[in-house]
Order: sequence, then C-alpha cells, then structure tokens
Amino acid sequence: MEPEALETCPYNHHHRIPLSRFQYHLASCRRRNPKKAKKMASCKYNACHVVPIKKLEEHEAACVNKSTVEEEDSLSPLKGSCTQERNEQACCNNITRACVF
Ligand SMILES: [Zn+2]
Ligand SMILES: [Zn+2]
Repeated sequence: MEPEALETCPYNHHHRIPLSRFQYHLASCRRRNPKKAKKMASCKYNACHVVPIKKLEEHEAACVNKSTVEEEDSLSPLKGSCTQERNEQACCNNITRACVF
C-alpha cells in the first residue's frame, strides 16, 4: 500500500495529517487553538488552505486552486462576448422566424 500524502497542520507545524482526515483535523485543531484560529483564515478556493489572515491575500493570489479558475476567466471575456452576440443573433432569428411563420 502506498503511504498517504501528509499535510502539515496550519495550527501546529508538528502535526502531519493524512489528506483524507485533513479537514476533520483542521476543524478539531481550530477548536483547540481558538487564539491561533482568530488569526487564520481559510482560502476561498480551497477550505483545506488555512493561512494567516495577513497572508490570505497573498495566498489567494497564488493559490493552486485559483489558477485553474483564472485561466478559464481570462479566456471567457472574448469567448463570452462572441457567445453573447451569437445568442442574440440566434434570438433575433428566432423572433424573425416566429414572425414570418
Ligand atoms: Zn493540528
Ligand atoms: Zn488556496
């Protein structure tokens, strides 16, 4: 059996937790470290990313889960306008057709 990937607990760097239990551990560790938890925030792209609030912006800007979202976003403005125009045309055609028939 392959060893499971271990994640480092953001509340205590001595904690190494298997990925499958990571979210559960985060919740329980947060309860055990309320003071530390106040200074931490979870990434909006991945709840498993818990970082100090000060570094949250920095993290979210570079977050691995964000990059996939951003790639799609950077392509969509062009695509989006094309699709919209096409949709509008399709709509017009439908209306015209509806009028004709
Ligand atoms: Zn922990
Ligand atoms: Zn993240």
